[in-house]
Amino acid sequence: MYRIKSITLLSIVCLLFSTVTFAQKKLPLDGKVIVVDPGHGGSAATDSYRQAASGEREEWIDLRVGLQLKELLEAKGAKVLMTRSTDVPFPLADRAKMANDNKANLFVSIHHNATADPAVNFPIIYYHGLSSSNSAGVKLGKMLGKNLRKYMYKSKTPVSVVSDYTIFSSAGSSVLRGTYGIPGILAEASFFTNPEEETRLKQKEHNYNEAVAFAKAIEKFLGGSIPVIRPKIASDFPPLFATLQEAERMSPVAKRWYQDYTDAKALMKSKNKEQLQKAYDLFTQSAKSFPDSYVAAKCHKYRAQILHKLGREDEAFKEENRVSEFYPE
Ligand SMILES: [Zn+2]
Repeated sequence: MYRIKSITLLSIVCLLFSTVTFAQKKLPLDGKVIVVDPGHGGSAATDSYRQAASGEREEWIDLRVGLQLKELLEAKGAKVLMTRSTDVPFPLADRAKMANDNKANLFVSIHHNATADPAVNFPIIYYHGLSSSNSAGVKLGKMLGKNLRKYMYKSKTPVSVVSDYTIFSSAGSSVLRGTYGIPGILAEASFFTNPEEETRLKQKEHNYNEAVAFAKAIEKFLGGSIPVIRPKIASDFPPLFATLQEAERMSPVAKRWYQDYTDAKALMKSKNKEQLQKAYDLFTQSAKSFPDSYVAAKCHKYRAQILHKLGREDEAFKEENRVSEFYPE
């Protein structure tokens, strides 16, 4: 009797042990298909503005981070598909097609930014379309922003999480538009036009820290409840706001983005209509020069306030809608 009892006890212990071992073996991203999209590729001959002062290029950095992210996600059990694994061009439409054809659970596009002002360095993350219909993209973007701040910036930086319509005002970015329905973001983790950041971006550990930020955000996002992505409704979109495009954003006018913002803010105190109009124009210029900066949301908020003060209510409401759909807090 005693012997039988101890055998039973032993088998229970064994069973418990094997259950625990089995639980440990189940990886957090088991069964998840993730498309990792390093931006551009094979673009050295055509895209001169994608080059840092030392000759380092954006598409090379994007690829280094992408390949490290692949390893990290695979170690967590995910099936990872790379849109490119070498420095070659790959059509934008095919990048989206890869995610759709493989029924991806998540799509991430990895980029690094450039601007005329060498002092600028902070992360910008885009979701597609409207915050009200794509709260999955907003959620993933915020999680990534938090992690980029932690792993790349030692917690000291503003972060922009904005709609891709802020920079591509007519239809958003091609890869996010093409994968809409799959939770996804396009991230510009830092600026290679900032000399200190450029030095860091050439170091593998810095690229690795960035990849860790992506991997942790993806794991947390896919482990939680994922908001439903609803179709975009045309009438929910704010009016078109034309902005400076990639190469134009390197111009001297674009370099004044922050000065324009602070000059405009000083004029806001005035009750004079002309001064308010001047403030409005400067906020507009700042938002045009740097539509995805961390002050662009404020520029649009102040534009709405000025429109109210000038009695242009209808336009004011449209600007308030722009802030909530394109620049969620
Ligand atoms: Zn890029």
